[in-house]
Amino acid sequence: SGDKPRVIYWFRTDLRFHDSPALKAALDLKPECLYPVWCWDPHYVYRARGGPNRWKILLECLDDVSESLKGINPKQKLLLIREGPITLLPKLFKAWNISHLVFEKDTDAYARDRDTRVQELANNSGVEVISVYGRTLFDPDELVKANGGKPTMNITQVERASEKIGHVPRPIDRPKSIPDPGKITLNLDQDPPNDGPDWSFEMRKHPDKSYSKLVGPKGDFAIPTMDEVGLLPATTRHKGGESVALASLAKVIKDTNYTATFEKPKTAPTAFEPPDTTVLSHHLHFGSLSCREFYWRVQDTVDRYKKQGKKTSQPPTSLTGQLLFRDMYFGAQAALGHLFSQTIGNSHCRFVPWHLPAKVSTVNKDSAKDAASADRLSPAPEPAYDVDSTEAEQWFQRWRNGTTGFPFVDALMRQLKTEGWIHHLGRHMVACFLTRGGCYVDWQRGAEVFEEWLIDHEVACNVGNWQWLSCTAFYSQFYRCYSPYAFGKKWGEAQGARFIKRFVPELANMPDKYIFEPTKCPISDQKKAGMLIKGDGSQEQEGEYKLYPKPMFDFAERREICIRGMKKAYEMGLYGNNPKVLDGTWREL
Ligand code: FAD
Repeated sequence: SGDKPRVIYWFRTDLRFHDSPALKAALDLKPECLYPVWCWDPHYVYRARGGPNRWKILLECLDDVSESLKGINPKQKLLLIREGPITLLPKLFKAWNISHLVFEKDTDAYARDRDTRVQELANNSGVEVISVYGRTLFDPDELVKANGGKPTMNITQVERASEKIGHVPRPIDRPKSIPDPGKITLNLDQDPPNDGPDWSFEMRKHPDKSYSKLVGPKGDFAIPTMDEVGLLPATTRHKGGESVALASLAKVIKDTNYTATFEKPKTAPTAFEPPDTTVLSHHLHFGSLSCREFYWRVQDTVDRYKKQGKKTSQPPTSLTGQLLFRDMYFGAQAALGHLFSQTIGNSHCRFVPWHLPAKVSTVNKDSAKDAASADRLSPAPEPAYDVDSTEAEQWFQRWRNGTTGFPFVDALMRQLKTEGWIHHLGRHMVACFLTRGGCYVDWQRGAEVFEEWLIDHEVACNVGNWQWLSCTAFYSQFYRCYSPYAFGKKWGEAQGARFIKRFVPELANMPDKYIFEPTKCPISDQKKAGMLIKGDGSQEQEGEYKLYPKPMFDFAERREICIRGMKKAYEMGLYGNNPKVLDGTWREL
């Protein structure tokens, strides 16, 4: 190779140009050429059950990256290659005579395994790897170190650890120039070697084989359409991409009063047009918004407010406080690795014998191969209490479908499915209801549904918040349950009713006073509203009437059963790594 570096910049969690420390590191090499690559990582695009809404956001982010590249250098564009990194990168190193591989550091458990493997492959090819952090306020590894090597399990620990680390770095500018790519002709359209786990990724579902071409049907590295990927059209109205992200942030910051006095608990899960919080989470997830940009734009606004002698909100309820929660969950995952995402084996997750336990995933953490390929499923432990798992499974399915017969829960679940985003307190409601405050179903089952449907799905935040809501970690006040009748009225009954009617159209004509508890509505009024409260949600219509299901259980009764169960579980005091949990002898306690 020549003297000047030949660089692959591997886009992953950082689909942006503003405040990208990793991209800056690549450009600081003063490379002769830079190849900006996005490749199909089987974990993110295949194994992680992403629905059409998240895909849409991803494709919009990729389009935006490519447009920005062209804007900075007309010879550039994003090189999208439809193969997994482990088989692809060595071929690229060779074909393009690469000297450096640069990317944003990713501390997700899966990503660490993958990147360790990538590092080995790069070593074999004589390629230097540069990995730079920029995804959360603090590098989770440093946060953990400053927390005595332990997972960050509460916000005080995060605040103390972050004081030791120092200030959140100020965002850096977007690059003004980017060198040309080298020659990009590639003939990679051959079967990837078939050794080990399926790291490769072929365009799924699409019947036309020609789409499996690694550089797109036209051989031009183009970003695919939803149709090409074989996905149904997305239903979300939220949009992705750095341009949208920065415009949305600017809109938030422009409302200085909102920004400086934001208090999470006061925001309404029933507000939907527009929502009451920033809806920047999917941008943070895809890295189309830098969280440090977000942090400093908010902090500067807060500081200006303070200087004027005005009252501002404080962490953890303030906007910067929200970002600290995000860091907290990243820190927990960084310390616990793969085990963070499950109960079994997890030293920090309480064991609860749920009615419907998750299948136990026995990820072998020593092997990237096992961790990255399909989960191995061993038989689930027998449920502990007297509800049979068929009944609990039905509750789970009805929760998922938004047909529980509890309108506030159903409206939220349908909003989640169609839009891919629900307000934090809406997530509280449905997660509590599925687990310790209603169905007594394992939090891992719920986390899987969120993983599929959220546009902002982030392993650390999803898993961590599910543990919080199920009182298995981070939070323990299990006697505090959300009522599906009362909670949605907290921000005004009329607003709650509007929200329910928007997402549960069967109830559109029901008088507001019955909307949270429609069984109280007299039959004559139900008929006037063109509907009947009847059945289990499997039937939509009866004659001229739309059907909305009866509540699937007596909530007050279920709440008592759940609290009793949680009390017993807390008395057992077992965590997921306890030998009694692992060998099933907890039953003898
Ligand atoms: P805002 O209130 O405007 O907050 C600003 C940012 O702070 C958010 O964009 C987000 O990045 C961060 N943030 C806020 N609250 C939290 C929190 N509790 N935990 C972590 N980060 C937070 N958030 C995700 O980003 N991805 C997930 O997969 C996810 N799964 C969740 C699952 C459950 C069961 C629950 C209860 C919460 C989950 N959250 C998740 C956290 C939170 O609900 C969302 O981040 C938030 O609702 C996003 O909306 P927003 O951008 O308007 O938030």
